[in-house]
Amino acid sequence: MSLPPRIEGLERPTDGALIDPYGRVHTYLRVSVTDRCNYRCTYCMPAAGLRWMPREHLLSFEEIARIVAVFASMGVRKVRLTGGEPTVRSGLEDLVSQLSSIEGIEDLAMTTNGHLFARRAEAFALAGLDRINVSIDSVDPVQFRELTRGGELQRVLDAIEAARRARLRPVKLNCVVIRGTNDDQITAMVEAFADRPDVVVRFIEFMPFSAVQRRRQHLPAAQMRARLEARYTLSPLGQRAGGGPAIEWRLEETGQRVGFISPITEHFCHACDRLRLQADGHLRTCLSREAAPSLREILRGGASDAELAQHLRERLWAKVAGHEAHLDGGSRAFEGAMTSVGG
Ligand code: SAM
Ligand code: SF4
Repeated sequence: MSLPPRIEGLERPTDGALIDPYGRVHTYLRVSVTDRCNYRCTYCMPAAGLRWMPREHLLSFEEIARIVAVFASMGVRKVRLTGGEPTVRSGLEDLVSQLSSIEGIEDLAMTTNGHLFARRAEAFALAGLDRINVSIDSVDPVQFRELTRGGELQRVLDAIEAARRARLRPVKLNCVVIRGTNDDQITAMVEAFADRPDVVVRFIEFMPFSAVQRRRQHLPAAQMRARLEARYTLSPLGQRAGGGPAIEWRLEETGQRVGFISPITEHFCHACDRLRLQADGHLRTCLSREAAPSLREILRGGASDAELAQHLRERLWAKVAGHEAHLDGGSRAFEGAMTSVGG
């Protein structure tokens, strides 16, 4: 997939929607609330030795809510809380409550590993959370524990059930597929949730951090689909509204929806409508790193909402056409980034 061309004659807007020079309108903000996590998934974090962000660098809930309100006034409609693991940040229900009452925010979601979620599902729903995505890379408890370095599968399954009961639906599952590690889970995951019509299993291409990993461990989405096609009849549902970059299919035998997300083999930069706010206030207009002052510094420097909005507009106008994860080893730009950026 090619990168989008700059649109000739497009002028930087002074108000209205958040548009970049490639004509992409931005309506989706991912907010990482912490870089910490209670799991250590092998593909995401090293087992030890991580340096966490100093606490005083984290945006407060009030600062996050203020930033989201300014984004909402510029057309952002969808917000997703992520991390690190968002549920390890204490009092997260308060943030959900603040964000859900911001005018313009129509869809408030969270991506979680589920470990601390089940008992809080009702509270999150009451606070105004609309949906959750749960990361689950294996339905084999031993393999799950190995992949997450200590995670408990049952707690994650309980989280999925609790979310369904709390009407946080559909519950979307994220399964990162690593060749030679958990690729046996493609059919196992589908089978495990075959009787849950409100659960959508999505398979995600592993984003390797080196060329070697890429050669050995990357499994293209087309090959994941072929594995399912050996057993099921797949009918295309395409890219559904609200489904983000996932291409969805229906399994005719069971009626299940399954999705494939392919950040490596099918670049979706041309349709990118997302922005990422890190827990320390750094904004990324693209997955790759950007040198710009953090929004935390701008807020704590006393900027007004109008000044913040002006800064955001300038940042959008400097957005690059796309990232380079399709190149061999090109995803080096993301190294260590998943935990601070939140996927
Ligand atoms: N802790 C939460 C969770 O695991 O759902 C939220 C943050 S996690 C960084 C967000 C998503 O990024 C997860 O679904 C995770 O599987 C995915 N992710 C992390 N590292 C990845 C990688 N190298 N390739 C593809 N996806 C990755
Ligand atoms: Fe933690 Fe999520 Fe990364 Fe796993 S993928 S280590 S749960 S942040």
